[in-house]
Amino acid sequence: MTRSITILGATGSVGASTLDLVRRNRAEWRIEALTAHSNVAELAKLAREFGAGVAVIADEARLGELKEALAGSGVEAAAGRAALCEAASRPADIVMAAIVGCAGLAPVMAAIEQGSTVALANKEALVSAGEVMTAAVEKHGATLLPVDSEHNAIFQCLQGGRLDEVRTITLTASGGPLRLVDDLDAVTPEQAIAHPNWDMGAKISVDSATMFNKGLELIEAHHLFPVGLDKIRIVVHPQSVIHSMVEYRDGSTLAQLGPSDMRVPIASCLAYPARMDTPMAPLDLPAIGELSFFHPDEDRFPATRLARQAAEAGGAAPATLNAANEVAVAAFLAGKIKFSRIALLVEAVLNAGNMSAAPRSLDEVLEIDAGARRAAEALMETA
Ligand code: NDP
Repeated sequence: MTRSITILGATGSVGASTLDLVRRNRAEWRIEALTAHSNVAELAKLAREFGAGVAVIADEARLGELKEALAGSGVEAAAGRAALCEAASRPADIVMAAIVGCAGLAPVMAAIEQGSTVALANKEALVSAGEVMTAAVEKHGATLLPVDSEHNAIFQCLQGGRLDEVRTITLTASGGPLRLVDDLDAVTPEQAIAHPNWDMGAKISVDSATMFNKGLELIEAHHLFPVGLDKIRIVVHPQSVIHSMVEYRDGSTLAQLGPSDMRVPIASCLAYPARMDTPMAPLDLPAIGELSFFHPDEDRFPATRLARQAAEAGGAAPATLNAANEVAVAAFLAGKIKFSRIALLVEAVLNAGNMSAAPRSLDEVLEIDAGARRAAEALMETA
């Protein structure tokens, strides 16, 4: 039976991994919509290859270019933020949410409001919107399937289990490429992006290097698996073989293992609750040899501490932390600030504002996001 899929962020790393799986099982899938931000050439190429119903480019100025690139293909072309949300709300069996950053929030919410099954890679959306998103999932009868490898691992370990019988959840972290680097002030964007185990987009690669990725994942886990923040732990596991663990009250710990390839968690979402083939080689534990585990060093990498504090504070803090981090990462990648200033800037933005008001709607989340971006830009200018 053919199933339909929409991929938000089709031209990115998660988008490419998703399309690779679709390509390998071509007869089983129909592509409803593909979206991108500005990469018209790649979007048009993919839309033609897969015969997408619609291709949407977020940057409205590029609509003409997209129309030209799709001429004669039969693929509809659209542009702008409203068109992204329209694409996300088209009926589809599954919507892959793989836009990077809070820019993906409105389309994710549009899919949720249709009661869709959403495979969620876009962690920044859930971190920013938290209760607003989980309430919308409940209200509209939508389903969130976690794509992030750690959350997908936890989700798998919870199959057949009950949250009230969970003693702890352990998120594993590779520690990123800078775990053993002494001078964090001297780190270049190229060094920060060179992840030892995973091949990912630039923003999440920098987040892995600062450990903000794990901080965002802590908040993400807190919303997806509400066992209480005090029960969610972070352990550095440099080999990235165990993707996360769930410990039950009887002392049993279940872990999910696999290669460091996003096609594994993506496949688990695409086929859920069944399984599908992937091109992964069997896991060769003797070849891996040893698995090691460490406590995170929050003095050198304060991001996980900041994220935990933001999650505990609630209110505007998680959306503010996320927005400030997005601004800081973009500034670091553009060569405007040093690596070690990313966490300092996020902390300064969190300390500068009143975090007490919790957002109650998508618009209020977006207001907090915009305010935190302005504060981060201003602090960057003055400090
Ligand atoms: P990439 O940077 O590789 O791709 C991002 C995608 O989003 C691209 O299609 C890009 O379009 C699009 N995009 C960027 N900005 C906007 C915008 N303002 N409006 C609309 N679309 C936009 O990111 P990744 O694939 O690495 O990550 C995507 C999400 O998945 C992130 O939230 C990340 O944290 C999460 N994730 C990623 C993993 C990975 O292995 N990569 C693992 C786990 C989670 P264009 O190409 O035109 O710029």
